[in-house]
Amino acid sequence: MNPVPLDRLLPDYVRRFEPYIPSKPDAELMRLYGCATLHRLNNNENALGPPPAAQDIIRQFPPPRAALYPSGDAYGLRQKLAARFGKHPDQFLVGNGANEVISFAIKAFCEPGDNIVTADKTFAVYEWVATFSGIDARLIPLRDYAFDDQAMLAAIDDRTKILFVCNPNNPTGTYWERERLLRFLDRVAGQRIVVVDEAYCEFVEAEDFPDGMNLIDAYPNLVIFRTFSKMYGLAGLRIGYLAGHLDVVNAIRRTCIVYSVNTLAQLAAEAAVNDDAHIERTRHLVRESKAFLREELQRMGLPFVAGEGNYLMIQLAMSDTLAYRKLMAQGLMIRAMTGFRFPNWIRVSLTRLDVMEAFAAALRTLVR
Ligand SMILES: *Cc1c(COP(=O)(O)O)cnc(C)c1O
Repeated sequence: MNPVPLDRLLPDYVRRFEPYIPSKPDAELMRLYGCATLHRLNNNENALGPPPAAQDIIRQFPPPRAALYPSGDAYGLRQKLAARFGKHPDQFLVGNGANEVISFAIKAFCEPGDNIVTADKTFAVYEWVATFSGIDARLIPLRDYAFDDQAMLAAIDDRTKILFVCNPNNPTGTYWERERLLRFLDRVAGQRIVVVDEAYCEFVEAEDFPDGMNLIDAYPNLVIFRTFSKMYGLAGLRIGYLAGHLDVVNAIRRTCIVYSVNTLAQLAAEAAVNDDAHIERTRHLVRESKAFLREELQRMGLPFVAGEGNYLMIQLAMSDTLAYRKLMAQGLMIRAMTGFRFPNWIRVSLTRLDVMEAFAAALRTLVR
């Protein structure tokens, strides 16, 4: 018998979905672009790496332990998170990166025909998981580079299950101040799930930025996402989590894959979570680099958007993919933004000052 045509097995919404192609390994890129060094300014990684205590854990990990399954529900880490944020350990679900908890939340609440509401220019994974699960992603255009709260509320209908807000937003760095978030939550009035993705909250310096963890008691429909990938420098180990009221977390627990977070990631995150000195050092670095780059961009006359977070966006008078190739030839990997619906824009991660200087010099040559 002939094998079944795969198209007959795939749901329409999977067949129509374009797979995301990740970028090639660094060594391969360096060969392709003929560069001897490569600075990764494309993924908002922490140039300082993980906090020192987490580095010790990684160095001292006993190899035989790799044969043992990890804690299935990140037991130890949830104790640490509970103590840090003044909550019950069961108010946290830990996943293989915050990416995985996006999927837990959507699977728990949405079925084909339902919809989620988010922005058109934000972290794309909310939209992707919804779309390839047969759930409509309603993408509300940004307003002044920020999430448009009124338009999001207006987009809610009977089938809306989750509203996703990225605070501060990747890639624009804009944020909802405390008042705006509270007003939004009051208007939703507990009738839908509101996810606030705080992947970059540890970088925020603005005084009026709301800490979502403090709002969970007052808003039982609120779910907060956090990650160890950005500030805590553990992107390669893949660990992130969600937090919420016990009832909402218990509901999401049904769709949570146990054992998806490896032992080393759990131990490193436990060692990292209370290192506030590391946060201070990283913030200092980002602050310096941001100030430097802003000044350089102003001097070059290039429009840019620099908000909170360890990244900023620059508008070019040329194709962003061409700029990507030219900067790669200089060993500088940035994020071309066409895929984020920002054609001719690039996003650059804020890292060490010497790397920012190299980037500014290369950019100057590029736009001249
Ligand atoms: C990086 C990022 C995440 C996910 O990070 P993980 O590495 O999967 O933990 C989630 N949301 C935003 C906005 C991000 O930028």
